[in-house]
Amino acid sequence: MKRISLTLLLVLGVLLSGCGNPAPKQMGERFQSVPQSKAKIVQKGEHKDSCAICGMHLATFYKTNHAATLRDSTKRQYCSLHCVVHDNEINKTDLINLKVVDAKTLKFIPALSAYYVVGSSKPATMSRVSKYAFAKKKDAEAFAKAYGGKVMKFYDAYEVATKDFTRRR
Ligand SMILES: [Zn+2]
Repeated sequence: MKRISLTLLLVLGVLLSGCGNPAPKQMGERFQSVPQSKAKIVQKGEHKDSCAICGMHLATFYKTNHAATLRDSTKRQYCSLHCVVHDNEINKTDLINLKVVDAKTLKFIPALSAYYVVGSSKPATMSRVSKYAFAKKKDAEAFAKAYGGKVMKFYDAYEVATKDFTRRR
């Protein structure tokens, strides 16, 4: 039995990997994912569907997406708070008007007024500690009640995300 299912997985893997041509439509199976048609992409250019920092597909990780405006008013979109921290702390990019996707309504909301649920059992994006944001405190509390984690405001969630970068080895 085991051998059969392994073979099946291999065959499926080969089929899905389709000659090096990534097929975003088949990547919509994660908790973070939304169909491409439901993902609001605010940045422009050839690679607009990918995280500005790590290149991951934005719709696939949409429920943890963030977006920001740079000083020259170009927009950037990120898969996660982790990549926002990377841009801000490592690349020293000035980010204005930071927004985050409300994991409930899937709309971009101001990150500074969002309620983050940090450390729930739902998968993390680019981090070991998951972070999902909500516009309404009661939505964040309901999420934390269902899946665990702590409700906190942006700067505390940001602080937790910076720990991804200070971890040794
Ligand atoms: Zn990223």
